[in-house]
Order: sequence, then C-alpha cells, then structure tokens
Amino acid sequence: MPRHPERQLERISQPVAAELMKRSGIAVVVAGSIEQHGSHLPLGTDLFAALSIGERVAERLDTIVVTLGSVGIAHYHGGWAGSLTLKPETMITVFVDICEGLKDAGANRILVVNWHEGNSATMRIAADRAQMVHGVQVVVGESHIITNSLHPDEMEFTHSGAMETSAVLAYDASLVHLESLAEPSDREAGDEAHELFRRRDVYPIMRDFHDVAPTGWYGHPETATVARSEEIAEEVADHIVRRAKEVWDALGKVSH
Ligand SMILES: [Zn+2]
Repeated sequence: MPRHPERQLERISQPVAAELMKRSGIAVVVAGSIEQHGSHLPLGTDLFAALSIGERVAERLDTIVVTLGSVGIAHYHGGWAGSLTLKPETMITVFVDICEGLKDAGANRILVVNWHEGNSATMRIAADRAQMVHGVQVVVGESHIITNSLHPDEMEFTHSGAMETSAVLAYDASLVHLESLAEPSDREAGDEAHELFRRRDVYPIMRDFHDVAPTGWYGHPETATVARSEEIAEEVADHIVRRAKEVWDALGKVSH
C-alpha cells in the first residue's frame, strides 16, 4: 500500500468527509515540524514523515487525516535560519480548535500521529485540554519512536540520519538530496547527548540543538532505501492502528 494523499481532509469534498467521520467516529491529526535537517533533508522532514504515516493510518481506519499545520515546537533549532516554531500555547489552541470541528463532524476519537520529540510535551497538554473542553478522546501515536523501536539498528534514533531519511523517502524521494550531504556531527557524542534528554527519570529540557549536534545533524542517511522506507512506513501505520484499537477496546466500545 503506497501513500494515500486522497485521505487528506483538504482534498476531500465536504459530503464525503462528513460521511467518513460520522461513520468511523475517528479523525487522524498529524503533528510535524519545520526545522533544519542538514543540507540533505527538507525543513519539513518531520511534517512529511508524520503525514506519510498519518495517511496510511487514515486509510486503514477508513477516515480522514488533517495536519495541525506545518509548524511544531522547535525553538531549539532557531540557531539555523529557516527553522520555525510555535509557542506551546499556540499549538494547544490550534489543536483544541481543530478538535471542535472534528467532533462536530462526529469524530469523537482523535488519533494523533506525531513525528517530533519537541511536540510531545505540548501535545499531552493539548490533548488533555481538548478532552476536557470538547469531550473528545485523544490517543497519541509517536511514529518516530515506533519506527526506531521496530528496527532499532536500521532506523537509528538520530537527527537527519537513516530513520528520518527513510521517512522522507516514503513520502517523496525527490526531497532527499544525499549528493548535498554536509558534515555530520560525531555519532557517539550525539547519541550520548540526545540520551540525556530522553531519560525518563531525571532529564534536562532542550534549549539549543547545538548541545546534541554542533553541525545540526548526525547519523547515517546513506543507509536508507526507497524500498525499505515504504515497508517500514506500512509497518508503523499497522502498529499505530493495532495499538490504538487496543486502547479503544480497553477504554470503551469501538464505535465503528
Ligand atoms: Zn526531524
């Protein structure tokens, strides 16, 4: 199963979209980011990665996918011009407002597909707020974490390395420019620094991505391939749908 841009809400006529949401009771919401990814990947890497998986998830659930917009929470990439960020309160407001419309269309279950670590803390608050204000039920799928967990060695949890290159290949291979590779930062130092921010017990909050990778990126983008990228995106979509259904089954009867 390749991509499914026809699942994007913007591309669907109103009666069809309304029917899909009413019948499934579900809407998929994508959260990405516009931030530097070296000179071989586009600024929209995280958006494209999340959208490519979000479309596949929407196809499996026979519903629509809509993005929160292109921009996420990425102020710590601000040292590289062209990176953009929302304030957390902006993202919360946008998410809550979008959930109101989705709920009005009959989608009481909101399945978020996120690809950006910087969004996660804000997404939790946004989801909590939307649940309280609009009575929807939000489930969050962290697609980058899933990709890495399914294939820890192949899909390295770096920045702009094999995992993110693969994710962009699965969206649009013409956006990957390995011929323009600039100097990576040290792999071991990057892993070590990133690990601090990913601790679950005692952890710092990211202020400047230079603390992880002085050149902005690290990893092995050259190991990603188009053929594998699509297989992996499919697996990640399957995983999100299966796990979301587990949650829905556990927390109440699935409405479709
Ligand atoms: Zn990224």
